[in-house]
Amino acid sequence: AIVLGIESSCDETSASVCIDGEIVSNIIANQTIHEQYGGVVPELASRVHQQNIIPAVHQAIAQAKINKKDIDAVAFTRGPGLLGSLLVGTSFAKAFALANEIPLIEVNHMQAHILAHFIPNQHEGNPNKKPEFPFLCLTVSGGHTQIVLVKDYFDMEVVGETLDDAAGEAFDKTAKILNLPYPGGPLIDKYAREGNPDKYKFPEPQISDLNFSFSGLKTSILYFIRDHVKENPNFVEENMADICASIQQRIVSILLNKFKKAAKLYNVKDVAIAGGVSANSGLRNALTELAQKQGWNVFIPKFEFCTDNAGMIAIAGYHKYLKQDFVGQDVAPLARMGM
Ligand code: ATP
Ligand code: MG
Ligand code: FE
Repeated sequence: AIVLGIESSCDETSASVCIDGEIVSNIIANQTIHEQYGGVVPELASRVHQQNIIPAVHQAIAQAKINKKDIDAVAFTRGPGLLGSLLVGTSFAKAFALANEIPLIEVNHMQAHILAHFIPNQHEGNPNKKPEFPFLCLTVSGGHTQIVLVKDYFDMEVVGETLDDAAGEAFDKTAKILNLPYPGGPLIDKYAREGNPDKYKFPEPQISDLNFSFSGLKTSILYFIRDHVKENPNFVEENMADICASIQQRIVSILLNKFKKAAKLYNVKDVAIAGGVSANSGLRNALTELAQKQGWNVFIPKFEFCTDNAGMIAIAGYHKYLKQDFVGQDVAPLARMGM
């Protein structure tokens, strides 16, 4: 079966073609307009989606070397995300389904981040290697931080989550304190490679259960920088690498300490990470090391499938297609959408 996937939940417009479970194209149009505002401006995001969606779909179909008429179903992100952005992808998918007389498939964006692991050729060695149910996934993105017990493709339980900021927000907001442009996560990662992660000690919050908190860390970094800049106005510039390495190490340790606890509690052997922050090299390395010590089979997505992409929507859509799980033309997007 051939499934077209559409993603437009935030500021990436993306289209992908999945043929019998393989992703043969994954076109991602990034929006750069938000950089100058230091964050995604919802109103602007939906307008740019409106401009980019048709070209992205055309490219995805061309790269897949198929004809529009060969497509068996269209899958789209129903939520969670920015409503104006979601409306563009949803309306496109509905119109495409109607015009081509094919079924419509709704996809939950957070489930899709996890289901990206079922795209083949991602894990070193065996091209068909994939996690076995039940497994535990640490989903770390711009809007979410969740520990998810994945029992089946569409049977997922959130067993821990953030009480305030998401891990991606922790990266982006601290980057802002360091005067780095938006989104700052990848820049912290870049500077951290050259720095000493033990140079500065930032606090680890004491939160019960499997939940996370990042707002205290952000505040402590704000005060730390403010106090040092009083003594040396060039403190940030002079110590950028060490500051970034120390911040990154703390965010990673907060994430992995809870993840380790969860893996023990649920007694799983297969573990995975998903979402934009899973592109972080500090997290990837620390998780690989931890997995070796704990004897886990670890699944780390290819960079292309970490941040928002329609490949993950197309693979999720493909697995719903196999179950003939379709929705009607009256479907509407949901800014908030649970698992
Ligand atoms: P959600 O999936 O929760 O709706 P989103 O779709 O906006 O949120 P993603 O696209 O999955 O989020 O991830 C974007 C986030 O990932 C941003 O906060 C960005 O800074 C962060 N990020 C991307 N690459 C890295 C990196 N190498 N290191 C740290 N953070 C990163
Ligand atoms: Mg984005
Ligand atoms: Fe996302």
